[in-house]
Amino acid sequence: MNVLVINCGSSSLKYQLINSDTEDVLAKGLCERIGIDGRLVYQKAGCDKEITEAAMPTHKEAIQMVLDALVNDKTGAIKSLSEVNAVGHRIVHGGEKFASSVVITDEVLEAVAQCNDLAPLHNPANLIGINACKELMPGVPMVAVFDTAFHQTMPEKAYLYGLPYEYYENYKVRRYGFHGTSHSFVSKETARFLGMDLENSKIIVCHLGNGASISAVKDGKCVDTSMGLTPLEGLVMGTRSGDIDPAIMEYIAKKEDLDIAGVMNVLNKKSGLEGISGLSSDFRDLTAGAKEGNKRAIAAIEVFCYRVAKYVGSYVAAMNGVDAIAFTAGIGENVGLVREKVCSYLGYLGITLDAEANAKSGDDCVISAADSKVKVAVIPTNEELAICRETVALV
Ligand code: ADP
Repeated sequence: MNVLVINCGSSSLKYQLINSDTEDVLAKGLCERIGIDGRLVYQKAGCDKEITEAAMPTHKEAIQMVLDALVNDKTGAIKSLSEVNAVGHRIVHGGEKFASSVVITDEVLEAVAQCNDLAPLHNPANLIGINACKELMPGVPMVAVFDTAFHQTMPEKAYLYGLPYEYYENYKVRRYGFHGTSHSFVSKETARFLGMDLENSKIIVCHLGNGASISAVKDGKCVDTSMGLTPLEGLVMGTRSGDIDPAIMEYIAKKEDLDIAGVMNVLNKKSGLEGISGLSSDFRDLTAGAKEGNKRAIAAIEVFCYRVAKYVGSYVAAMNGVDAIAFTAGIGENVGLVREKVCSYLGYLGITLDAEANAKSGDDCVISAADSKVKVAVIPTNEELAICRETVALV
């Protein structure tokens, strides 16, 4: 069957049409600048990208343009919309209501809306995307796949903050974690690729992209993860600070004359690799800067890797051991230097790297040396394929 995978942001929408039997991507692309002007990028498998500028006042027009492109006489990937058998939607926040993917019903939409407060920028956009698809493709089954669901197996000791318990009871303040689709996909793929029994394994997944998070997966279930109530907590990211002393917020607010929104803007958009380096949030720019001796670029890379290594150490403690560590996402898959630096802190676990294997990037590969006590691997993530598989399993 063909599954249309939709990932709706507030002003953008990414899509892929996947044949679930072969797992081939038939077409993919994105709509940008929804509500501003509008731009569709469409790419049929094996063809060049096509870019169309057209008005997209809302997500409905954007999705209509995607559907038109998919069935276009010349460049369409399918002949008619009846060939779209199901739609899988990525939803950012499922709160405590969703511990797995679900078929979308009116009750599900209502429950997702109740989580809007927890992800005010993302969940409303996700809902707009679902409603637009319902209108344009009536009767086609749709599935919601949540970024938070995989982490719902965390025990209370991992998800409770050291705050008044009433905040958890009254406002649901707790650790949720994000990138769940990726952590789930990569942990399963790591076990498969390394020939491990997932049900009897301790795996740490380092999802290092522009947004970055790490998770401890024991016997196939998440037991801890670095992102929290929101994606701001944990690792140092492209522009997000990750963990800081919360008192810094008041201190900076006074010094810089900022209100709470101003401070949050700094922590989300002006911190992390970009904030430290003053150069860029993009790792490619940082490595280039570091090669030229840029001290702040070097500091940003060091802080980034050190934080990842500290989290790995804490998750080894959380699981009382580790069998495999997987690196994934843009930085994890492509930057050997980061993998090398992170693993250089982990010699105490008996980890040794195979420098030649680590220098390569690409498909699934083992980068630890034959005598390493813990296997280390690069496992490319594929969130769209994971959403497609979840969708097929439910419809
Ligand atoms: P997100 O999905 O969160 O936007 P990605 O997983 O695409 O993030 O990762 C983006 C990061 O990965 C950027 O810092 C980028 O520089 C880095 N990256 C991607 N490809 C490469 C590459 N070939 N070499 C070095 N860094 C890369």
